Amino acid sequence: MRILKNTSLKPYNTFRIDCSARTLIRVKSIKECGLLFGGGLKFSKPLLIIGGGSNLLFSGDFNGTILKPEFTGIAVEELDGNDVIVSAGAGVNWDGFVEWCVNGGISGVENLSGIPGSTGAAPVQNIGAYGVEAGDVIEKVVAVNTTDGSKRVFRNEECGFAYRASIFKGPEKGNYLIARVFFRLSMKNKPNLDYGSLREEVMRTGKPTLKNIRETILRFRQSKLPDPSVIGNAGSFFKNPLVSKMQAEKLSIKYPGLPVYNDLSGRSKIAAGWLIEHCGWKGKRVGDAGVHEKQALVLVNYGYASGKEIFELSEEIRLSVLKEFRIGLEREVELI
Ligand SMILES: Cc1cc2nc3c(=O)[nH]c(=O)nc-3n(C[C@H](O)[C@H](O)[C@H](O)COP(=O)(O)OP(=O)(O)OC[C@H]3O[C@@H](n4cnc5c(N)ncnc54)[C@H](O)[C@@H]3O)c2cc1C
Repeated sequence: MRILKNTSLKPYNTFRIDCSARTLIRVKSIKECGLLFGGGLKFSKPLLIIGGGSNLLFSGDFNGTILKPEFTGIAVEELDGNDVIVSAGAGVNWDGFVEWCVNGGISGVENLSGIPGSTGAAPVQNIGAYGVEAGDVIEKVVAVNTTDGSKRVFRNEECGFAYRASIFKGPEKGNYLIARVFFRLSMKNKPNLDYGSLREEVMRTGKPTLKNIRETILRFRQSKLPDPSVIGNAGSFFKNPLVSKMQAEKLSIKYPGLPVYNDLSGRSKIAAGWLIEHCGWKGKRVGDAGVHEKQALVLVNYGYASGKEIFELSEEIRLSVLKEFRIGLEREVELI
């Protein structure tokens, strides 16, 4: 366990906001968590658990304790016919995990290639991309109760997975530290290429092997999204809004070209980036806070923007989308 006092959070968030935390604790094992949460060690509240800080916007200094689980290790737990159960520690870099699976011929997470952050955050966020969500392949989650240090296992159906949501972000927020995630994957390649032009691009460059799917997705992502190591950002700032089918039809008539997708919930999903771009925000910059020039859904920090400045810009964007389309955008990034 490593305890840091009054430390800068700049290396701990991909927006690269320069604020500080009163205490930051890097924990290496479930045992250390047991000691912390079981009362063996006093720490100041509020408590915030972070992974790679790639979905967070710090609005100012954090006057409590930030806990960063650094549990490592990827293991094959069980073979069950073509299925394989693989587990990974919360601190394992998510894309490192995906690469490990792809290199080992294990299918199921290749469409989630290139998403920044930790494996521990994948169930919290129910991360998703290119037609796949983490909740589709998570078997169970092992977590530690932050009030007494006890261990609890959540089966998939207990996690409340929904679009970029789970119970760990909802009713149980802050109550559990995710320590290890178990995935049900497959030794048989089951390509899922139905999203947008993915199939076309994969087939253009070769066969639908796990490696080719991963490389195609990494190329797609690099061409569309800014690299946080070059320019501070946290990916999509807002969620794609869900509206009724009737509202979507009306909007499509008024705004030809508006991208509308069918959602499993029976509602229609609208591309938030298109709404923001239509309101003239793409490429706009206010001081060091800005809207990315290639993807209007991504807000960026050109260098020294504060979290407050990025938040204020996001609120202006939200207001203009509300006025133009009567749609209230919901933040995907978590404001701290
Ligand atoms: C360039 C870029 C592209 C992105 N693309 C995508 C994308 O395609 N799809 C997508 O879904 N997301 C995307 N994201 C968002 C982000 O990568 C994910 O949300 C990711 O899961 C966040 O992981 P993290 O470890 O950085 O979590 P953090 O940002 O540190 O934390 C996120 C939340 O999870 C909680 N948390 C983290 N670890 C734990 C733990 N061990 N136990 C309990 N709670 C925990 C935190 O308290 C917080 O509520 C992108 C971000 C960037 C910067």
